[in-house]
Amino acid sequence: MMLSSLAFLGMMYSCNHKNMIKEEPAINIANLDTTIKPGADFFRYANGNWLKNNPIPAEYSIYGSFEALKEDNNKQLRTIMEDAVADKNAKAGSVKQKIADFYSTGMDTVAIEKTGIKAIQAELDKIDAVKNISDLIKLVAYFHVSGISPFFYFGSGQDDKNSEKVIAQLYQGGLGLPDRDYYLSTDARSKEIRQEYVKHVGKTFELAGNNKEQADKNAETVMSVETGLAKVSSTRLELRDPIKNYNKTDLAGLKKMAPQFDWDQYFAAIGLKATGEINVGQPKFFSEMAKMVARIPVDQWKIYIKWNLIHEASPFLSSAFDKEQFSFYSVVLSGIKEMKPRWKRVLNTTSYCLGEAVGQLYVEKYFPPEAKKRMLELVNNLKDALKSRIEKLSWMGNATKKDALAKLAKMNIKIGYPDKWIDYSALTINKSSYYENIMAASRFGFDRDLNKIGKPVDRKEWGMTPQTVNAYYSPNMNEIVFPAAILQPPFFFLHGDDAVNYGAIGVVIGHEMTHGFDDQGRLYDKDGNLRDWWTREDAANFEKQTKVLIDQFNSYKMLDSLHVDGKLTIGENIADMGGLTVAYVALQKAMQGKDQTIKIDGFTSDQRFFLAYAQVWRGNTRDKELMRRLKEDVHSPKEARVNGQVYNIPAFYKAFDIKPSDKHFKPENQRPVIW
Ligand SMILES: [Zn+2]
Repeated sequence: MMLSSLAFLGMMYSCNHKNMIKEEPAINIANLDTTIKPGADFFRYANGNWLKNNPIPAEYSIYGSFEALKEDNNKQLRTIMEDAVADKNAKAGSVKQKIADFYSTGMDTVAIEKTGIKAIQAELDKIDAVKNISDLIKLVAYFHVSGISPFFYFGSGQDDKNSEKVIAQLYQGGLGLPDRDYYLSTDARSKEIRQEYVKHVGKTFELAGNNKEQADKNAETVMSVETGLAKVSSTRLELRDPIKNYNKTDLAGLKKMAPQFDWDQYFAAIGLKATGEINVGQPKFFSEMAKMVARIPVDQWKIYIKWNLIHEASPFLSSAFDKEQFSFYSVVLSGIKEMKPRWKRVLNTTSYCLGEAVGQLYVEKYFPPEAKKRMLELVNNLKDALKSRIEKLSWMGNATKKDALAKLAKMNIKIGYPDKWIDYSALTINKSSYYENIMAASRFGFDRDLNKIGKPVDRKEWGMTPQTVNAYYSPNMNEIVFPAAILQPPFFFLHGDDAVNYGAIGVVIGHEMTHGFDDQGRLYDKDGNLRDWWTREDAANFEKQTKVLIDQFNSYKMLDSLHVDGKLTIGENIADMGGLTVAYVALQKAMQGKDQTIKIDGFTSDQRFFLAYAQVWRGNTRDKELMRRLKEDVHSPKEARVNGQVYNIPAFYKAFDIKPSDKHFKPENQRPVIW
C-alpha cells in the first residue's frame, strides 16, 4: 500500500533556534485581491495579489507555498552541505564525510564532463555481453539492485492483510513516460508527447555513440516494447483499489502466473534467499510481461535495457545528456523554461540518496524543539475534534462508529524526525565519482529493503525524510507523519494565533487523519489490515456522499475544455474536506472562553482560518504542467483544492456572509457531508 501524501509529488547548536523560524505576518493583507468577492472566487480573493506578484520562476512548472518553502529549505540544506565540505576534521565514515564527498563529486563538473558516457561503460558492456534469455534475467536483477527498474519494480512492504509482517512485493513498471495512458490515448496532446518522446530517445542514443539511423531505429524499438508493457498495465484508477492490488502468492504461484520469466534465477541474482509470501500487485501485468519476454527477441530487450540505463543515468552524466533529458521531461512534459542551477540538483540528489544522514544534520541545525510540542497539542486537539464529529455523524450506525473510533484512537503520530536514524555505516561514499556514489547509495537502499523481507515491521521507520515539505498517512501503519520541514510558515506559525494555525497546519493534520477514512483508508482497520469493518448500510451511505463529491469535481473545468478527474482525486478531496471540517471544529474548541469578536488585520478568527487555508494552496501553474497533473496527480489542482472545498463548508458561508446571489452559493442539501 502506498502512502497518502499531502502534495505531489524531497546535538544542539548554540545558536538561538527561535531566530531561525521566519517571523512573518501570518496573513499578509497585501496578498489578497479584495476587488474579487469571497463568494465569487475565494482562491483569488485570498491569493489574487500574491498570484500577480509571484510569476512562475523560469526553472519551475508550478510555484506556490510548497515551492517557496522548498527554496528556503534548499538554502538551509546548501549551508549544511557546504559546511560539511569545508569541515576538514570530518571523520572518515561519518555522515558528514559521506554528505561532503557525495555533494562535492556531484559539483565536480570538470571530472563529470571529462568522463562523459564512460561513467556507465561497465554497465553498457554488461548489456552487450547478453546472449540469451537467461543472461537477460540476470541483467534485469543486476539493474534492479542498482536502483534502475526495467520491466517492473521489486521491493518490500507490509502485508496488507497481516500488517505486522513485511513481505516481498512486485509492482508493474518499466515505462519511460509517466503513465500508461500516454502510450495509448488518442488525444492530440498525448500524440504530441509520444512523437517528442521517440525523438528524445533517438537523440539520447546518438549522444551515447549510435549513428542517427541506428539511434532512430532503437527509439522505435523502445517505443514498441514500452507500448506493449503499457497495454498490459493497470490504469491509475485501478491502482487506487487496494483490493485489486492485493494478490498474495508464493514462488510456486508466481511461477505459475508468469512461467516464461525465470524467477529462480531472478531472486538468486538479487540475493533473496527465501522468497516466502509475495504480493503481486498486478497479476495480469506480470503474466503478460512474462509472455513478452519469451516472444520478443533478446536483441530488442538489450536496446530497451540500454535505454533504461542511459535514461536513469542521464542527470548524473555530462551536460549533453543532462540537457537532453531536461528538454523532454521538463520542457515538453511540464513547460519549464530553464534548468535549475546545478547546486540545487546535486543537493536534491544528495538529500534523496543520503536521506536521513542529511536529515540528522538538518534537524540539529534548523528544527526548534518547541515546534514539536506545539504540534503535538494541535494533533491531539484535532483527534478530539474528529472523535466528536464521528460520534455525531447522522449517516453512520453505531457498530461502524465503534470501529471507526477505535481506529482513530489507535492512530499513531510522528512529528519532526525519527527517534532512531538509519545506520549508514555499511555505505561507502568517497571522492572517486558521482555516478559511483549514486550507485553505492542505490545498492545500500536496495539491500536495506531486501533485509526486511520475512521480518516483523519496524514501527520506528519513516516513509519521508525530515527535510521533506510534505506529510503523509500510512494505512498499514495507521499513522500520520509530519516531517520537520513542513512545520514552518505558511503551514505552521510557532508564534501565530490559533485561527491561522488551525486553518493551515490544522487542516493538514485533519487531511492526513481523514486519509484513514477516505475511500481507500476506510478499507483498513485499526491495525492496518485490509478488512471490511463496515456494515453494508454504512458503506452504501459513504458511497452515496462520496458520489456527490466525485460528480462535483468531475464538473470542475480547467483550461477551458479539461476537467478534474473526480474519481482519481476522490481520496484527496475527501481528505481536504474532512481536514477543513475537523480543523474548524478544533478551532472552535480552542477559542472557547476567548473573545471571538477580536479582529486581527481586520479579520475575525473564522475568516483568518479560511484565509490561512487558502494561502497554503496559493500558486501559479504552467498549462503543460496542469495538463500533466490532471492526468497523473491524485491531488486536485491548487485552485480546486480551495474553491472546490470551501463552498461545501457551512462555517465558511457564515464567516464571509455568502448569499444565494453569490456565484458559488450552494443550497445546503447539495453540500456533501462525509466526516
Ligand atoms: Zn493527501
